[in-house]
Amino acid sequence: MKIGETKELICINCPMGCMLSATMTENGLSVTGNTCPRGEKYANEELTHPTRTLTTTLRVDNREGKYVPVKTNGPISKEKLFEAMKLLSKVSVSAPIKTGTVVYPSLFGEADVVATGNVD
Ligand code: SF4
Repeated sequence: MKIGETKELICINCPMGCMLSATMTENGLSVTGNTCPRGEKYANEELTHPTRTLTTTLRVDNREGKYVPVKTNGPISKEKLFEAMKLLSKVSVSAPIKTGTVVYPSLFGEADVVATGNVD
């Protein structure tokens, strides 16, 4: 962002969904509209290095028609979400699977993909 430029965004850290206004100043980003400090942190991260936790499902190759829900155990770069979904669409796992099992380690070196459900 250039100095003087303002961006509007909605904080997604809680259901309040505060409308944030972030203006770049000579001293860094100035954020208003946040009800708590998490909003300012969110605006800074979103405008410099946006990340998201990815959630999806993976096919269970030894259980006909079964899928297991999975998610990353930490945020990954927002710009890599599409590539991650494409990559994971080709990944399958074998049952049994327990919640918390790492089913795809080190996705782009940013986070592990872990099961969030059980398949016996
Ligand atoms: S600024 Fe604070 S209160 Fe507002 S949405 Fe974000 S986390 Fe929730």
